Amino acid sequence: MIPAAFAYHRPRTVHAALRLLLAHGHDARILAGGQSLLPMMKLRVVTPAHLIDIGRVASLRGIRLSQGVLRIGAMATHREIESSPRVRRAAPVLAETAAVIGDLQVRNLGTIGGALVHADPVADYPATVLALDAEFTLLGPAGARTVPAAEFFLGLMTTAAGPDELMTEIAIPAAPPRFGAAYLKMPNPASGFALTGVAAVIGLDQSGRCVHVRVGITGVASAAYRASGVEAALAGAEPTDEALAHAAAFAADGVLANSDIHASAEYRAHLAGVLARRALTLARDRAGTVRRRGRSASRA
Ligand SMILES: Cc1cc2nc3c(=O)[nH]c(=O)nc-3n(C[C@H](O)[C@H](O)[C@H](O)COP(=O)(O)OP(=O)(O)OC[C@H]3O[C@@H](n4cnc5c(N)ncnc54)[C@H](O)[C@@H]3O)c2cc1C
Repeated sequence: MIPAAFAYHRPRTVHAALRLLLAHGHDARILAGGQSLLPMMKLRVVTPAHLIDIGRVASLRGIRLSQGVLRIGAMATHREIESSPRVRRAAPVLAETAAVIGDLQVRNLGTIGGALVHADPVADYPATVLALDAEFTLLGPAGARTVPAAEFFLGLMTTAAGPDELMTEIAIPAAPPRFGAAYLKMPNPASGFALTGVAAVIGLDQSGRCVHVRVGITGVASAAYRASGVEAALAGAEPTDEALAHAAAFAADGVLANSDIHASAEYRAHLAGVLARRALTLARDRAGTVRRRGRSASRA
């Protein structure tokens, strides 16, 4: 299919991109990697009259690690995130997540900003940025504002980003010692998108108890969410296999799970529990202490 006709703009600065966005309003769309927008335009699901290509805005690129915060430009590609030594050091689970997105071609072009604003309910990053307590910088006519990941994903492909706002940066606190994280997904065999995906982060205190637990889940509902029931069940707990299994059972608690041709709501909710248990177990093991069935052993 061929997209409807559009005017193409290629600004070189964030402010020039914003001016274009303001000038053309609802008729305009930002073009990042084009991996979601162009297929939608070809299917004529969206028909923007103006495309604002931000591929040449240098300030939106780059990955920095400074004062304990990882700062990722919205135009960083999945491949750059997957292979960045800074991401691997400060938030290895984000690199792990990027590595399971689509194929190499998609990862070479697709960007983290594009994926987050697109907010596909079966996309991978949303689970991980929720579990990592990420914050997003949105720049609009009124200036810049920061939105925590927990307040960003509002519904089916709906986010807190306004149509006149540009996502410029993703900030993630670097993992402190004794923190472990994991992202696991059950890929849809046809598309590779997450039928269900679970990101878990566990922080342990000196005695091996959970002082920090975050679980982000994608693929189950119309928007990615924090599994607060799982987090509450593990607060202050010893992360034994039994405790993790008990907590994981709350993975889809209070959530309206989606049913479609790919999977029933029951199956998705079941997968959320299974993957939550596995991701929590891996996160705990990576945090540095392996605890099984009441016995505990420190890992080197
Ligand atoms: C074959 C294939 C397989 C895929 N598999 C997976 C997968 O397994 N897992 C997964 O998570 N994703 C998958 N994707 C989607 C992929 O990750 C896309 O890269 C991503 O969804 C969109 O990023 P993009 O940079 O291409 O954005 P674009 O397609 O350019 O834009 C997407 C939307 O975001 C808006 N936008 C883009 N950047 C900004 C910004 N900085 N500020 C404001 N708005 C912005 C655009 O206007 C548009 O509405 C797949 C895609 C394809 C084609």
